[in-house]
Amino acid sequence: MGSFFKKLQETAKSTADTLGAKSAELVSAGKLKVEKMQLESKVKEKKTDLGGLVYLAYLSGQEPDTDKVTALCEEIKELEAQISSLDKKMNEETAEGKDTVQEAVAACKQCGQALTSGAKFCPGCGTQV
Ligand SMILES: [Zn+2]
Repeated sequence: MGSFFKKLQETAKSTADTLGAKSAELVSAGKLKVEKMQLESKVKEKKTDLGGLVYLAYLSGQEPDTDKVTALCEEIKELEAQISSLDKKMNEETAEGKDTVQEAVAACKQCGQALTSGAKFCPGCGTQV
């Protein structure tokens, strides 16, 4: 009887240890994943707005408001660009480690503007980099 409970306790402890190590390892990737999920739900929201706009126009027999449609499309495009850059970041982190990520987010020494890799001049202040 006593040894049964002792064994149970030991099993529980070793399971907890394994989970602890694993979750620490997953913190970074998990954070990106959460960020991505938040962006994806925003995209979904915008697409719903867009659909609603078009449907309302259909119901009223009018053309949808082009400015609003364009604005929503631009927002969706922007969000999807963010998602794909997150995807890239996630791939780089799992495949090649942190060095590539560092290179991708280089900033201008003059004004701090983010630089795209391979850029010769800063898009913010024009300083040669
Ligand atoms: Zn600059």
